[in-house]
Amino acid sequence: MHLPKSLVDGHFRFRRSAHAKDRGRYLQLAELGQTPTAMVIACCDARVDVSAIFDAEPGSLFIMRNVANLVPPYEPEGKYHGTSAAIEYAVTTLKVPHLIVLGHSHCGGVAAYRRGVRGSVSEHGFIGRWLTLLEGLKLIDSDVSRHGDEKAFEFAAIRSSIVNLATFPFVKERMGEGLLALHGLHFDIASGELVLLDEESGRFEALAED
Ligand SMILES: [Zn+2]
Repeated sequence: MHLPKSLVDGHFRFRRSAHAKDRGRYLQLAELGQTPTAMVIACCDARVDVSAIFDAEPGSLFIMRNVANLVPPYEPEGKYHGTSAAIEYAVTTLKVPHLIVLGHSHCGGVAAYRRGVRGSVSEHGFIGRWLTLLEGLKLIDSDVSRHGDEKAFEFAAIRSSIVNLATFPFVKERMGEGLLALHGLHFDIASGELVLLDEESGRFEALAED
């Protein structure tokens, strides 16, 4: 099987247009390295195009994508923690000032958990284990009444990931120094809108334009 033609064609379009237009920026990024504005922890879902959502320039976002945009708690005795490793690198080496958990509507990972895909080793060993991070989430009544169960669950998962982020010692340390902020966002695929988790109220509110 060859690489799909659409990808090969797309790559050459990229080389001729976007890369050519931003050649200076790419050369600078190659020579000086990356200094991203934020790390974004998003879902693998093909509909969640993080750079497009923020109209972000190359080099400006350090993006980690996993099933259902989850952050596990700090587990130093764990084995292969890809998400935790990326967070550690972003915070301790790149010193990003912002960590963003970006959830989204119609999340297949969240829906799978709600359907009961919970660690059947034969079929869904990795996903099932990963989705146990969603166990015990508390839904907020007003989220359910305003947005329905599915979105309320996605919101609860974002809140839980934010709580877990704050269990990492290096995250706590940078936050304590006022050098790092955590943010929760939820992207609605159909409308394209983002809602932002309000730190004080714990509610998701429409993102306001300055
Ligand atoms: Zn998802």
